[in-house]
Amino acid sequence: MRSFQVCVCGEPLRLAEQSTPEPAGTQVLLKVLAAGVCHSDLHLSDGYFDLGGGKRMSLADRGMKLPVTLGHENVGEVVAVGKEARGVKLGARMLAHPWIGCGECAVCKRGDENLCTAMRSLGVFTPGGYSDYLMVPHPRYLFDIGDLPPERVAPLACSGVTTYGALKKASATLKTEPLVIIGAGGLGLMCLALHKAMGGHSAIVVDIDPVKREAAKKAGAHTVVDGGAPDAAAQIIAATKGGAWAVIDLVGSSATARLGVDSLIKGGKYIIVGLYGGDLTLSLPPMPMRALTVQGSYVGSLPEMGELMELVRRTGLPPVPVATKRLEEVNAVLDDLRAGKVIGRVVLTPA
Ligand SMILES: [Zn+2]
Ligand SMILES: [Zn+2]
Repeated sequence: MRSFQVCVCGEPLRLAEQSTPEPAGTQVLLKVLAAGVCHSDLHLSDGYFDLGGGKRMSLADRGMKLPVTLGHENVGEVVAVGKEARGVKLGARMLAHPWIGCGECAVCKRGDENLCTAMRSLGVFTPGGYSDYLMVPHPRYLFDIGDLPPERVAPLACSGVTTYGALKKASATLKTEPLVIIGAGGLGLMCLALHKAMGGHSAIVVDIDPVKREAAKKAGAHTVVDGGAPDAAAQIIAATKGGAWAVIDLVGSSATARLGVDSLIKGGKYIIVGLYGGDLTLSLPPMPMRALTVQGSYVGSLPEMGELMELVRRTGLPPVPVATKRLEEVNAVLDDLRAGKVIGRVVLTPA
């Protein structure tokens, strides 16, 4: 099988040709039909996250071992199963939940595998879907997609479940108050679509790029705000009639974090999802006096993935623009993503 791997951090992915693995025990082998290209793949190929103030968090220190085959948004067809893999049929087309924990610890047992301290995420710590084949450790991570188009379903595994997990953290005011979404890239448009599917009140979308603001407007944003405007926070406070009850920051830079926190109403919640990088200094007395919440949200749990699939079956696939490319084009796609040239999602189709 052909796989595209990070071999040296900061360099283009390299093609590796290896023999296709055979599933053992509970493992399930998928032939990859669709593999979404996610912004975090840029960080994974760079090998670090920017912590602000010139500091970096190395992914090697967090357990990433090279070479690693990237790709964590995958749909594939079941082509082989281990002897103990129950409940999956050959030929079924499945979405693979990639946020896999150790499966043994108390955190995993309560369903929060995405918060396990010994994660085995596909395409991060174990081989992912930028490949002809993908091995999944257990059928419980697979969701039958029926006859839905694989390239439209694949982004649900990261972009979808990540925004769904963040939206759930805003559920107290989701249906009654405007929600602020910072970032109108692939994640932003997904968030906007799921917000609508979940019965969200209205969305105010913030982006520094006029093309992306226009895309958000077309996708149903009630108001769009230029995040680079000097009065951006004042504009959000005016649009929310006093400040936001919930801000979901899909960028996660020093500037967007500042804007997000400054736009909150008393009792408001700033939910940070994006991994762009940077830092944030907060004065402490306003935190209790304004009863503010700052909450991180990392991908989504396995039960949330199941809920999201239910939502999609009920309300239809999120209408996020998807472009397909051949597996061999992965490095060019990553370059486009880095240059900010991608609207919506690019999905590789190895098969
Ligand atoms: Zn991702
Ligand atoms: Zn665990």
